[in-house]
Amino acid sequence: MKKIQGQEYKEISVHKADKCPYCKNKKIVKNGYRFNHTKKKQRYICKECDRTFVVDDGFKKMKSERELITCCLDLYMNGMSLRKIEAHINQFSQEKITYRSIHNWIIRYAKLLNSFSQSFDLNLSRQYHTDEIFVKCKGEQHYFWDIIDKGTRMLIATHYSEKRDSKSARMLFLKVKNRPLTLFTDGLQGYQKAVRKVFGTLHKDRKVQYIRLRANKDKRNNIVERIQGTIRERIKVMRAFKNKKDAELFLDLFVVYYNFIRVHQGIGMTPIEKAGVELGLGENKWLDLIYRARGL
Ligand SMILES: [Zn+2]
Repeated sequence: MKKIQGQEYKEISVHKADKCPYCKNKKIVKNGYRFNHTKKKQRYICKECDRTFVVDDGFKKMKSERELITCCLDLYMNGMSLRKIEAHINQFSQEKITYRSIHNWIIRYAKLLNSFSQSFDLNLSRQYHTDEIFVKCKGEQHYFWDIIDKGTRMLIATHYSEKRDSKSARMLFLKVKNRPLTLFTDGLQGYQKAVRKVFGTLHKDRKVQYIRLRANKDKRNNIVERIQGTIRERIKVMRAFKNKKDAELFLDLFVVYYNFIRVHQGIGMTPIEKAGVELGLGENKWLDLIYRARGL
């Protein structure tokens, strides 16, 4: 066994390989370890193409501990700024990090997890509620748009725009994979045209029931408040984004956090569970979700 200053390498292979990532052949055997700092990972060799590999569990080439990385993702989604997370972690952890590395982790995992989060067949009520939330970006007023499925509380579509107009509403609707049965919007004029353009159809039986709720006059607005409350709260905490890219990045990870990580008080589970998807996530949901996204 290799050693560093009398200390043993810590093995971090939690997943076994079942095939070669290059040629997909299943004739693979263990072939020593790959070492990095104080950690080691099981290495395999493919008997078909002769190449060696380790399982890419989503943390390939990452120097930091996976627990630390996922902790940062969670703190960020819970409303802490990158610089506050940096200070917080450096106060308590042996490993020192910078807000720049946290930013890089967010970029990496927002992409991986967001595309994974889009890959499920969902059991939705298809009663959708839309909302627009005002956010500050470079001192200007921009908008987050979102659609939530009433039955499951799944956040099924989001959009970021500089204007609060019909075109932006249309862009939001175009991201909806499952046609709504009923669609609730607020009184914003632009919605009507967008609904007609995206969901309008000549076939009566496929017609979307469209309900426009006028502010304060309709009791059904309460459910919008309840459904959208968390999102509004969380966006408010963010206050301002540096640029559009940062805002969209946040939104990509937020969708994952909202649908897969956070237990929704109104339904007592996560929206993805309510939508009929069982992923068997353990205590560290972020970590297990990254493994699932890597197919493990
Ligand atoms: Zn191979």
